[in-house]
Amino acid sequence: MKPGRLAFLGLVALLAAVPLAAPQFWVTLGNYIGLYSIVALGLVLLTGVAGQTSFGQAAFVGLGAYTSAYLTTRYGTSPWLTLFIGLAFTAAVALAIGFITLRMRGHYLPLATIAWGISLYYLFGNLEMLGGHTGMTGIPALEIAGLELRDERRYYFLIWAFALAALWCTNNLLDSRPGRAIRSLKGGLEMAEAFGVDAARLKTVVFVYAALLASISGWLYAHLQRFVNPTPFGIHQGIEYLFMAVVGGAGSVWGAVLGATLITLLKQWLQEGGILMTLLRDGLEAVLPRGIVPSSNFELIMFGILLVVLLQRAPEGLWPWFSRVLPARRPPPIPPAEPLPARAHAAAADPLLDVRAARKAFGGLVAVNDLSFAIRRREIVGLIGPNGAGKSTTFNLISGGLPLTSGDVVFQGESIAGAPPYRIASRGIGRTFQHVKLIPAMSVLDNVALGAYLRGSTGVLRAALRLDRAEEARTRAEAAKAIERCGLAAHLHDGAGSLALGQQRIVEIARALMAAPTLLLLDEPAAGLRFLEKQELAALLRSLRAEGMTILLVEHDMDFVMGLTDRLVVMDFGEKLAEGLPAAIQADPKVREAYLGGVEEEAGA
Ligand code: ADP
Ligand code: MG
Repeated sequence: MKPGRLAFLGLVALLAAVPLAAPQFWVTLGNYIGLYSIVALGLVLLTGVAGQTSFGQAAFVGLGAYTSAYLTTRYGTSPWLTLFIGLAFTAAVALAIGFITLRMRGHYLPLATIAWGISLYYLFGNLEMLGGHTGMTGIPALEIAGLELRDERRYYFLIWAFALAALWCTNNLLDSRPGRAIRSLKGGLEMAEAFGVDAARLKTVVFVYAALLASISGWLYAHLQRFVNPTPFGIHQGIEYLFMAVVGGAGSVWGAVLGATLITLLKQWLQEGGILMTLLRDGLEAVLPRGIVPSSNFELIMFGILLVVLLQRAPEGLWPWFSRVLPARRPPPIPPAEPLPARAHAAAADPLLDVRAARKAFGGLVAVNDLSFAIRRREIVGLIGPNGAGKSTTFNLISGGLPLTSGDVVFQGESIAGAPPYRIASRGIGRTFQHVKLIPAMSVLDNVALGAYLRGSTGVLRAALRLDRAEEARTRAEAAKAIERCGLAAHLHDGAGSLALGQQRIVEIARALMAAPTLLLLDEPAAGLRFLEKQELAALLRSLRAEGMTILLVEHDMDFVMGLTDRLVVMDFGEKLAEGLPAAIQADPKVREAYLGGVEEEAGA
């Protein structure tokens, strides 16, 4: 048996034993840890993986709880039905909130989550029909096949069945096509979108997913307590949920359980006070000046201090530290599989790419100045020029990373000017970045597999239920092949961030190839490579051309460019300085002057 599975079964066995043997008090704690884990799990995905901080999750817990409380007490609706009504209602609210707030960047998003977290809390407290701040009583107990779950010990199994199912689904999701896309959101939207990910849509999906988990937890809570009031759904609790995710380790689903367990036990321990707390308090009172040690809420302050220390010592949370003692999981071998469907190459339009008077102005600076050039099929064209000439900006104008100020870009006979990057990617333009954009913590294999995003179709639901294994096997097999072709087979399972920078550029090429593009844009692919590696890269690009690919590349190494390219376009100060065969360009006095001028400047600087 695999060690990972063994650990999982061990945990299940341990969880199952608690209500059989432990005293009531521990069962109650176990119930709360389960409820909190479900919410924290949503935050692991939303905050830890997708990078969207939310302080407002408790409000979604409240939506689930209040929906069921209201419908079951007022209309006698079956709680099993209200679960789904609550989920639908929460999804609708989350969609509306997400639509407004997820466009915000930087600190505005967390601030907005505080704002709506507080608003919903007051709404719960002020709505007459929800019983105001006193809340609602008489919520019926759940029933399964005639068995009433009044007893906390029985309820424990229900909570943990939900928690484990949520863990399983979320873990599946992370290890899938949409999961890789979600993980790529943190690497900057530019990169995700270059592979066809509709980042705005995906962020909303993750937000709703996290809200639904919170809503389930709320429903379970309402029928466990059989009483609700607004207190557990306020911003206080929202902050605590976030703590659980962060303290546990927001990068792994198990971090949610660990965080929920630690915070719950820690709070319990501090609240109980006990001899240790009294000693600590007396000790502090003895050494510190009078009046500094607070007489009330001492445990809350200790809680805060402990959290700060914890986050200082383990900024990635405690899970990575904890998982080190577990047996390491060896990555499974990747069996060969049928390749993914490739793009149907459109009828040969020539030129393949036609850049027409493309212009990009950054304020007063014209980075690309009415640049025109065309690329035919199966050509390798080099875009060269001194630093700051506008080469990378030109790439971004083609790939949609930057909007054109004026002019047009025509690909396969159709204008792509103004289209978002993910649409341009879907038309068959793949790219790499001058400043490497990989997910460092993700394996080389997963980074490369992200490139095939547009060639797969698995959505969040299929992925969560693990119905995507056939497509996933094909994706992984093809990614492994692409990596091998690029000469990095030895690094398949290494974290992408552990590779040398030159190798990371090659990983980017493998990732771009996974999209089976018609046109490949490479921004300084050979930078940081050694001589032999450069030769291997040149051989790879030639063989790609032989297979029908068209390549536009920016490169500074003139030997590399001269030996590889069919044609060169030379830029200087945003304008086209010259265009032609490599030999003619090399002999061109204008080009020599531009380069020599550059060299003199650099030498003078
Ligand atoms: P190259 O890739 O040829 O070295 P770039 O296309 O990166 O040159 O840059 C061209 C010019 O545009 C430079 O002067 C650069 O400072 C400027 N530039 C590039 N991107 C931006 C931006 N996002 N905002 C403002 N100026 C920019
Ligand atoms: Mg550049």
